[in-house]
Amino acid sequence: MPQCGTAMSSRIIVVGAGAAGLMAAGQAAESGAEVVLLEKMAQPGRKIRISGKGRCNLTNAAALPDFLARFGKNGRFLRQCFQQFFSLELLRFFAERGLETVTERGGRVFPAQEGRAADVVDVFRHWLDGLPVSLRPGSQVDGLLLDNGQVRGVLCGGNAVLGRAVILAAGGSSYPATGSSGDGCRLAAGAGHSIVPIRPALVPVETGGGLAARLAGLHLRNVGVRLLINGKRKEEAFGELLFMKYGLSGPVILTLSGLMVDALEAGSAVSMVIDLKPALDEQKLDARLLRDFAERRKEPMDSALRGLLPAQMVPVCLDEVGIQAARLAGEVTAAERRRLRGWLKAVVLPVTGYRGFKEAIITAGGVNLAEVDPRTMQSKLCAGLYLAGELLDIQADTGGYNLQAAFSTGWLAGRSAAAALKADSP
Ligand SMILES: Cc1cc2nc3c(=O)[nH]c(=O)nc-3n(C[C@H](O)[C@H](O)[C@H](O)COP(=O)(O)OP(=O)(O)OC[C@H]3O[C@@H](n4cnc5c(N)ncnc54)[C@H](O)[C@@H]3O)c2cc1C
Repeated sequence: MPQCGTAMSSRIIVVGAGAAGLMAAGQAAESGAEVVLLEKMAQPGRKIRISGKGRCNLTNAAALPDFLARFGKNGRFLRQCFQQFFSLELLRFFAERGLETVTERGGRVFPAQEGRAADVVDVFRHWLDGLPVSLRPGSQVDGLLLDNGQVRGVLCGGNAVLGRAVILAAGGSSYPATGSSGDGCRLAAGAGHSIVPIRPALVPVETGGGLAARLAGLHLRNVGVRLLINGKRKEEAFGELLFMKYGLSGPVILTLSGLMVDALEAGSAVSMVIDLKPALDEQKLDARLLRDFAERRKEPMDSALRGLLPAQMVPVCLDEVGIQAARLAGEVTAAERRRLRGWLKAVVLPVTGYRGFKEAIITAGGVNLAEVDPRTMQSKLCAGLYLAGELLDIQADTGGYNLQAAFSTGWLAGRSAAAALKADSP
């Protein structure tokens, strides 16, 4: 087999130049290693560039306990990693390299200059340029070279690239057009790792009944959404949502999607109840309707409702509650008002499915955490193999948590791998 490379006495191979791999490569190099960073796409950091709608929500200002809670029960795996490199350290890392940040609503941290996710990638490129890191775009890794429970390198384009440690940071399976198409888990499985079944997460959902299709394109702010599983209220969220031809998307839906996907997979009945007027209780809403209809008593209902609902929603609302568009506001009966009130407080949509990896912000599931040392990110099954980023079975809500996890696990994997080589060197 052809081989690239020579003595490899301090060489570390990093697979994947995303958030985790870029950080791992730089940290390993700063700690004394010679690094080969293999990236299958033509450019590094494709996913970072599109993250946060091109703004890149880098991290979150939440304190450690709240931050960890966003990862659910697997959050505890990250504790030791975050104790060493957390949001403050990440922000210092960027500030020292000239990237100013700004903290917004919900503690979300972004580059200060509007729309500059690409600046985040540039920080890494400049940093790595000054270090012994050989970044090789267009290099797809197809396998790990293993020898008696020890990793010896990787197989890349038919060549063996040898190294004393390998950091796998090839991402999950979501947005495969960015390069992360599930190779990370496949490569880890080749080294004996078990994979917690992967599924799309932070993903739009499909709904039945045709209501969403009629409202497709409509963006609502400040709505409440209740999630019902087998008829029981399971969770509630507040914020923005977007009607799509097939169902619903937007921040509130993505936040609730993890529970929905799990419930659908378990065969449960799932539905969502949208409260279009969460700031008004039934009594206040009734008073508002009475006032509006008195003021607009000569107007037909399709005009009178415009003060209360977006125009696209008015005909749908009238159909749903069985009031004719031409009916005058002043003629609406108490029973009709009750039906209207009921609909405004509870638009029910049955959830029939969820979209695929192509549209999922992150991948749930991944390399089993029980097989990875949380103090170093080293594999417990294969000496010299380290794992970082979204290929691990960690996933969080939107808000900057996922990128911080990728940066922090990459930081720890890079440092630990280099330290282990130093300790091992004669
Ligand atoms: C649209 C979108 C918006 C997002 N916005 C945010 C946000 O604002 N804030 C946030 O915290 N999170 C956000 N996320 C999630 C976040 O971007 C990811 O969790 C994070 O980038 C994962 O980093 P990673 O390094 O583990 O994987 P990736 O960024 O996926 O990087 C993996 C890299 O490995 C490469 N690779 C894969 N296979 C191979 C192979 N065989 N050989 C060589 N290279 C390979 C890939 O090409 C890729 O470059 C967003 C995700 C998406 C899809």
